[in-house]
Amino acid sequence: MLDLAIIGGGPAGLTAGLYATRGGLKNVVMFEKGMPGGQITQSSEVENYPGVCKVVTGMELMECWPEQAMRFGLKHEMEEVRRIKRECDGSFTIELASGKSEKAKAVIVCTGSTPKRAGFEGEEEFLGRGVSTCATCDGFFYKGKEVAVLGGGDTALEEALYLANIVEKVYLIHRRDKFRAAPTTVERVMKNPKIELILNANVKRVYGNEMGLEGVIIDRQGKEIDLKVPGLFVFVGMNVNNDVLKQEDGSFLCDVNEWGEVKVNLKMETSVPGLYAAGDVREFAPKQVVCAAGDGATAAINVISYIEKIGELQPC
Ligand code: FAD
Ligand code: NAP
Repeated sequence: MLDLAIIGGGPAGLTAGLYATRGGLKNVVMFEKGMPGGQITQSSEVENYPGVCKVVTGMELMECWPEQAMRFGLKHEMEEVRRIKRECDGSFTIELASGKSEKAKAVIVCTGSTPKRAGFEGEEEFLGRGVSTCATCDGFFYKGKEVAVLGGGDTALEEALYLANIVEKVYLIHRRDKFRAAPTTVERVMKNPKIELILNANVKRVYGNEMGLEGVIIDRQGKEIDLKVPGLFVFVGMNVNNDVLKQEDGSFLCDVNEWGEVKVNLKMETSVPGLYAAGDVREFAPKQVVCAAGDGATAAINVISYIEKIGELQPC
């Protein structure tokens, strides 16, 4: 029986592993379906991780995290987790896609969330090189320049307002003339002189060169607009990676909010004792590396106390 199973090996999972093992837990496994590092490894420029003062790529930022975490005994298994189940003795069964399973006294879910793609031509090619899904991460690179935002939900409008504080001008592109976002947010966008709306329109393709994005071709009711901007922020929804919590009957193992984000308290405890969530998969996550790492540390510190408190598991 593992003391702790960590699901996901991004900043949250790796930091949880570091704190759990350095804090004395002996039998800790991090299940990561790919290489450890998480989604930040897709970023070409990170300049907001405190203490790392040079601008680095996401790969460079994450390079030594696995080695540091494993120095204290964390084990990595390159396995995809299919489902987490709770047993009557309070332990958890981790069902793996390979057909194997493991048992653990506690679990930290660090599976992150994935921004949806809009599906226009060049989206993947220019992702991280002009096409962005994170205004907090990349907005500053466009200080004094013009950018475009795609989407009509709360995220797109809130991020357009955030960007308007930094950049010269924001073109907000939305495929309808009605927004999904809250009316108060829509009103703030409408009143912002730095935001220009391009409605009933969608992005057809983006273009540029090896240096990055040069422009966005927009289709507005059959007419093409060539918007010459170096940055396009895509906010067309998020997929929360919560599948591991889905039970056979379709319910979730613990409480999630209406968008599928895991509800946690300030200890990163979910509604189920022994089950924790950290990083972008949790409710109200600021979706930043530093915050995900902080969550992972918080969860691990609290798991150590939990395991001390429960002592031996009670038979069913
Ligand atoms: P993730 O990093 O998403 O890690 C989750 C991990 O879980 C993944 O490795 C995944 O493979 C694994 N996983 C998922 N499901 C399973 C499963 N069933 N079984 C096993 N493994 C599983 N943040 C910043 O602070 N600064 C930036 O400049 C910045 N730039 C960004 C640029 C880009 C292009 C992107 C995409 C994000 C950027 N971010 C930035 C956001 C940052 O990457 C995330 O907030 C952070 O990575 C979240 O960490 P996490 O550990 O919660 O999740
Ligand atoms: P969302 O509400 O699903 O909105 C996605 C937007 O993107 C929609 O306007 C949609 O257009 C558009 N879109 C989707 N696919 C597209 C495509 N392929 N091409 C072009 N446009 C596309 O997503 P979200 O804004 O990320 O919000 C997710 C949830 O979190 C929502 O329930 C939201 O209310 C909530 N949230 C709340 C807050 C807050 O309360 N402060 C903040 C952020 C998010 P259509 O409108 O035409 O479908």
